[in-house]
Amino acid sequence: MLKPTLFALSAISILATLPAQAQDNKTLNLYSARHYSTDEALYADFTKATGIKINRVDADDAGILNRLRAEGTSSPADVILLVDAARLWKGEIDGLFAPVKSKVLDDAIPAQYRAKATPEGTPWFGFSTRARVVVYSKASVKREDVDTYEELGDAKNKGKVCTRSGSHPYNLSLFGAVSEHIGAAATETWLKGIADNMARAPKGGDTDQIRAVAAGECAIGLTNTYYLARLMRSDKAEDKAAMDKIGIVFPNQNSWGTHLNIAGGAMAKNAKNREAAVKFLEYLASPSAQKYFADGNNEWPTAKGMKIDNPALKAMLVGNGGDAFKAETIPSSVIGMNQVKVQQMLDRVGYK
Ligand code: FE
Repeated sequence: MLKPTLFALSAISILATLPAQAQDNKTLNLYSARHYSTDEALYADFTKATGIKINRVDADDAGILNRLRAEGTSSPADVILLVDAARLWKGEIDGLFAPVKSKVLDDAIPAQYRAKATPEGTPWFGFSTRARVVVYSKASVKREDVDTYEELGDAKNKGKVCTRSGSHPYNLSLFGAVSEHIGAAATETWLKGIADNMARAPKGGDTDQIRAVAAGECAIGLTNTYYLARLMRSDKAEDKAAMDKIGIVFPNQNSWGTHLNIAGGAMAKNAKNREAAVKFLEYLASPSAQKYFADGNNEWPTAKGMKIDNPALKAMLVGNGGDAFKAETIPSSVIGMNQVKVQQMLDRVGYK
């Protein structure tokens, strides 16, 4: 991921050059928080198939939501892509999305990933999922001591845990999900336990936690699966050496399942090119686009009937004892609903 400062700068400079578009449905203005190089081909294929040119604005989730609020009715955005369920939920709550009616999307995307914060709300669609898993040092940690999220907060793991900031959307969404599964009081106790178990103050991104576990700076970390898959598919000797040192656990296989976050999208409230917007959202649910998410960016596709042929995702599951894993089944919208609550817990327990 780019450094936040660079990100902000590039977003502003691209925005400054984005031409004001009249409705033509031959152009699509896309605000995207997907920061994955393989997505270029995904967009190029859409243009090739439809003749619709994509003008893209890149920023992170928060940057895009702020931009949309600031631009209001004069926003040129047609489609918004974000990489976190809670941020998608926030976009809907803040009235930044437009209603979408599409039989193609209703048929392709399972109900739990066609989310709405309220029954009268405007929908957003999860096009891919990423599991948030535990990595551990094979040298110093027993797998059975980290095969549930709950154990990360257990005193037996004192001095071993490292994570990125507790307030990062990936963690807030995990904690919001945990709160749904085990209740608010138990979640706050658990978060206090994790904060007490830290080997070092939270810093860096998910890949930094994987590397820290491999290097022995800490023994237990949390990461989204696609960061692991990237290292597993890397040709670099140092990445291979790092991966040899760590074990991967899909937590809570005997209870509520591993937490899944989504990357997804919605039509922008003030979209001018509405026909093109719906076409693009439908394209993201098509088998060829879904294959890009799975093979290119190592995510799990959400569309029904998709088969995955990604060696890294498969290898992760072999280590988990099979070719599938049990995932949580809560609707994506409840993750967003719990965000404020879990952020307040983090503040109280001192998990920065
Ligand atoms: Fe990411």
